[in-house]
Formats: sequence, structure tokens, C-alpha cells
Amino acid sequence: MNEESLNKYKQMLLDEKQTLEKELEEIGVKNKIGDWEAVPEKTEQEADENDLADKFEDYEERSAMLNSLEDRYNSIESALGKIESDPGSYGVCSVCHNPISTERLDANPAANTCKIHMEKSE
Ligand SMILES: [Zn+2]
Repeated sequence: MNEESLNKYKQMLLDEKQTLEKELEEIGVKNKIGDWEAVPEKTEQEADENDLADKFEDYEERSAMLNSLEDRYNSIESALGKIESDPGSYGVCSVCHNPISTERLDANPAANTCKIHMEKSE
């Protein structure tokens, strides 16, 4: 991959990383070991049982959301890491080592597999 494309994808990754960081901070806090945890909504003083149940559900939803944001964040970090430390390994399928199509990278610059080996989680 030429340097121009590499810079383009790097910029896309950095932009998305910034957006994700904001989203993560809105619904979670980083714990001591650097993992994100969902924060419960502020407790209202006069909550009845139903409200508490609702809150728990919301917390579960936030946790699920946080996990998917964190997964995405980690794949972006890993793609950026490749560009920094070994640019030749970026944009290459981790399974068959063929180049990943630019079409696919345009849609997802953090992709680390080609279309054939696309991960189910995407
Ligand atoms: Zn492949």
C-alpha cells in the first residue's frame, strides 16, 4: 500500500477513535486496569421497585453497548498499531495474507481480514 493510502486510512482510524472515546466516556468509566465499565445512571431518591428494575435494564444495555464500543475501539487501536510499527502488515488479511480490497478498507479501515475471511463479528 502506498503512503498516501496509508495516511488516509490512518486519519480515518484516528477520527473514529476520537468519536469512540467520547462515546465511551459518556456511558462508561475506565477502571484501574484500563478496561471500560458502564456507569449506572444517577439514582433518583424516590425510585420504586419498577424504576429500579428499569435502571438495571438500562445498565445492562449500557454494558452491552460499552462492550461493542470497546471491541471496535480495540480493533482500531490494533490497526493503528500496525500502521505505526509495521506499515507493511496493515491492509493484509490475517488469514490468507492477501491484500484487503480498498473498497473494504474504505468501509472499515480497521478490517484485518479480506472479504472471504471476513469475521462474523463485523
Ligand atoms: Zn483472507
